[in-house]
Amino acid sequence: MKIVFLLIILSVISKELIFAQKIENNINDIIIDSQLTFEEAIKGTKAPKDVIENLVLLDVVYYSTDDKLHRGQLVIHKDTKADIESIFRLMLQNKFPVGKVIPIVKYKWSDDASMEDNNTSAFNYRNIAGTDRLSNHSFGKAIDINPFFNPVVHKDGSRNPEKAKYDTTKAGTFYQSHYIVQEFLKRGWRWGGIFSSYADNHHFDKP
Ligand SMILES: [Zn+2]
Repeated sequence: MKIVFLLIILSVISKELIFAQKIENNINDIIIDSQLTFEEAIKGTKAPKDVIENLVLLDVVYYSTDDKLHRGQLVIHKDTKADIESIFRLMLQNKFPVGKVIPIVKYKWSDDASMEDNNTSAFNYRNIAGTDRLSNHSFGKAIDINPFFNPVVHKDGSRNPEKAKYDTTKAGTFYQSHYIVQEFLKRGWRWGGIFSSYADNHHFDKP
């Protein structure tokens, strides 16, 4: 009886050790998607000095669609840092796939190019598409996650990016009861998927 008990304990311990070792190996094999300095990450922005002063560059770790650990970066408003860190931790624990996380400077500040590439990003000093009003992205208080998996869907059914499909059964895609959407809402963020004008499914902001 004692031997059986001992064997069970040993098997539990070894499973834990194997799991810890696996994570350790993954950390060593981490794929770097972005490794910019703050100056590089904001180079060429039209944002005024007082806006830039409130921005921070945050390193984030996530499983990408290749099922491997990646490290990327976000430029965000300093007041959103704690929320974004918690949400990325939650996504990592649940292996929620995030395509890539690269500051939008790498796409020459083109929101369309970044969305087309399924890139997750936050700060971009720009207007709301189709308006002359500044977007919350201008202050780093909005984040777009997996935009190709979560396109904007207009009332007539057209999408942006145009070729993107919105399939809520696919991992990395949001819908209202999704735990990540709920986590954002709980923290006082809005989810663009329930905006009245059009469904901005990749967009979260905290004005
Ligand atoms: Zn957005």
